[in-house]
Amino acid sequence: MNNYKAYCFDLDGTVYRGKEGIETAVKFIQNLQKNNLEYYFVTNNSSKTPAQLQEALRNIGLIVEEERIYSSSLATAKYVANHYPKAKIHTIGSDGLRFALKSVGFNHIEDENPDVVVMGIDRMIDYQKLSKACLAVQRGAKLIGTNEDVKFPDEKGFVPGNGSFVRLVANVAAVDPIFIGKPSPVMLEVIQKEHGLDRKEMVMIGDNYDTDILCGIRFGCDTIHVNTGVTNTEMVQQKEEQPTYCIENLDFFNI
Ligand SMILES: [Mg+2]
Repeated sequence: MNNYKAYCFDLDGTVYRGKEGIETAVKFIQNLQKNNLEYYFVTNNSSKTPAQLQEALRNIGLIVEEERIYSSSLATAKYVANHYPKAKIHTIGSDGLRFALKSVGFNHIEDENPDVVVMGIDRMIDYQKLSKACLAVQRGAKLIGTNEDVKFPDEKGFVPGNGSFVRLVANVAAVDPIFIGKPSPVMLEVIQKEHGLDRKEMVMIGDNYDTDILCGIRFGCDTIHVNTGVTNTEMVQQKEEQPTYCIENLDFFNI
């Protein structure tokens, strides 16, 4: 494998599944730590704050600085602040997204007559919340989703991701939503800028071709697909643009 300067990891299905760590990935990251190599986490998970994600990583044996964790929530909050600075906002989502919106200066994020509806994963989502979002978007509110993941792997199988609910609202209101998380290259661009990296020195590692690998391809860095989550190797091999490496798991690179 090429010697990269910065390794960017997806989390769900790449580093852990639910509360279980993926051993080969944990060992790989521990090796990077031992060799003083740079690594970052790039996640479409909008439900947790960076501190909560740091805790989740600690629980599987990885001690990492909070600053290494880049989530779609903060990227989304910054996007809304840049494009709709004075907008009235209605939010569907959990702590991570609310925390991010407040951190960029939005104090009222439960408006009943919003200009923007922001949607991140909400494990308490119900018919009423979805209806409210559908009606607001029909009245002209912009629909912005933190990420378009249709599903993600849990300990027992696949469960619905945020993209499934955003698409539902978009279908009812007959609009095209804006998505911020992977495969949009926004988060990798932020890492590149903040750490003064060259694209050639970076690699994006993930289990989901349509988010992680496409994000890396659109950004213009090397990519590694692992067969520990959403997309399996056979599915990847049918895609037109191939990742740089397509491997079973990160043990391939562990010595
Ligand atoms: Mg994943």
